[in-house]
Amino acid sequence: HNKDCVKVAVRVRPFNKRERDAGSRCVVSMVSSSITIEDPRDSHNRRSFCFDYAYWSHSGFSWDCRGLFVPEEQGGRYADQERVFRDLGEGILENALQGYNATLLAYGQTGSGKSYSMMGYGPNKGLVPKLCDRLFQAIRGNQDMRQCQVFFSMLEIYNEQVVDLLSRGSRTPGGLRVREEQQRGFYVEGLRTVPCDSATQVEQLMDQGTRTRTTAATHMNANSSRSHMLIILQLKQIFSKENTTKQSNINLVDLAGSERQRLSGSEADRLKEGTAINLSLTTLGNVISALADVAVGKKVIHIPYRDSVLTKLLQSALGGNSRTVMIATLSPADICYEESLSTLRYAERAKRIQNRAVVNESPTE
Ligand code: ADP
Ligand code: MG
Repeated sequence: HNKDCVKVAVRVRPFNKRERDAGSRCVVSMVSSSITIEDPRDSHNRRSFCFDYAYWSHSGFSWDCRGLFVPEEQGGRYADQERVFRDLGEGILENALQGYNATLLAYGQTGSGKSYSMMGYGPNKGLVPKLCDRLFQAIRGNQDMRQCQVFFSMLEIYNEQVVDLLSRGSRTPGGLRVREEQQRGFYVEGLRTVPCDSATQVEQLMDQGTRTRTTAATHMNANSSRSHMLIILQLKQIFSKENTTKQSNINLVDLAGSERQRLSGSEADRLKEGTAINLSLTTLGNVISALADVAVGKKVIHIPYRDSVLTKLLQSALGGNSRTVMIATLSPADICYEESLSTLRYAERAKRIQNRAVVNESPTE
């Protein structure tokens, strides 16, 4: 048993077109792992936060002929995908190979860089594909008598309903059921779990899932920025000589946009739906606050894991048996000041959570 805090990283992206067109000013600055944000209406009002990592991905970059960013060590100040992977992804991979559960969460307002950091776009591969690449490299390079199996699942939580992003068939009305078992905790019943033996195969599944997510959102006339995307990688390692099996789950979560939800007219009519749209995100915030209170010794009677689908599925990742990393993504622009400040406050609370990660090892059946 060892207690470890949730590791938190922040990352600030380049201006987007809208911000450039609006003549935006950059209100964040970074010095090593601390970040300062300045109120655009009052430059004396500055707040600083300190995290495990702070990534300046706002400026100081250039592209090479393949469309890849020139990395920091070649003179750029820009923290690129590889840098983020080295700090956050490698540790998760090592933990998983040792038999620990691991969870990576991306939090931030829509358009702030969650999917860029998690999945990446084009040649700028994000944490998840890089993690899969290295996982299969590690498996292929392994010298001992270990036998490894990798299973891949991908789901979406929209409006408290679970949608399997890998099953092509008709959608289950009301979504898949979340069940609870003594040993296993909460899980999604009937979720497709695909055995994989290469990073290419995983990438094809990820592309399929991403397409399903977008199509489903279009069909429901919904906004995919309101859904949570969860990838579950299960790693099973069988050590025949020792007669033991290690099992670890890696949860990779691209959360819904953290911005305050504005309800459309028709949604406001259907109040039930309106309240459920961000129930998972709201509950995640409540769970994080409660756990942060626990960590500073406050009396907490109840941690509301059961209040939402997302927090049920992440129960062991939050204050339980998992090594957890959060990447909080920010816009640099003055016009996003309020949202960015609220993201930083959220991330600061998450930093206080303590987990108790244990190696999941048992005799081979
Ligand atoms: P989110 O998933 O949070 O809604 P995205 O990841 O889709 O946001 O990012 C929005 C846009 O900003 C995308 O076009 C993306 O390529 C760009 N972007 C985000 N983060 C970065 C970054 N660190 N470096 C370069 N471009 C980025
Ligand atoms: Mg996204």
